[in-house]
Amino acid sequence: MTTDPSAPLPPPITNAADALAELIAGNKRFVSGRPEHGHRVSAAAAASGGQTPIAVVIGCIDSRVPLEAIFDQTFGSICVVRSGAHVLDRAVLGSIDFAVAVLGVPLIMVLGHKRCGAVQSTIDALRTESRPAGDIGYLVDQIAPAVRSVGLDEPDVADRATRAHVTATVARMQEINGIPEAIAAGRVDVAGAVYDLDTGLVELLP
Ligand SMILES: [Zn+2]
Repeated sequence: MTTDPSAPLPPPITNAADALAELIAGNKRFVSGRPEHGHRVSAAAAASGGQTPIAVVIGCIDSRVPLEAIFDQTFGSICVVRSGAHVLDRAVLGSIDFAVAVLGVPLIMVLGHKRCGAVQSTIDALRTESRPAGDIGYLVDQIAPAVRSVGLDEPDVADRATRAHVTATVARMQEINGIPEAIAAGRVDVAGAVYDLDTGLVELLP
């Protein structure tokens, strides 16, 4: 099913609860095989005049986790920032700040995923005490605290570290210029979630 281009537009979403509900509803549409949005050029043209995105989603670069697809979103509906295991750097933080301060998104979502290669690489690096050279080493450094917080000897360290890393990334949103004030004022909220590669389901973290 695809959206009828002549159908009236739904009211704009301007608060975090409605934005989160739409992302979860979109994920259910995706999982059930009944997405509303294709990626046709007519939809691109319909959205070209401006944008009022409902969220900025920070996800992994993993090719199996295309964010617009798994949330069944369309042109103009979400901002997306991706890096290995959603590791933050100045460009990512600045992009999130831009989405909130300039584009006015009411929701920041951090999305990790199961079987994340960057998380597994971090586990391997810590186990072998061999930090990768160059900028991959930077990714490992940023993920390592979450792995250490779980413990390398835990049998499900990858899954638990993925969750811990999402939670830590959510917490770090407080470090972005203006975000704590925006949260306190109710202008934006932050959510963390994990995506399952096999089922397509997004699970919200507490
Ligand atoms: Zn990943």
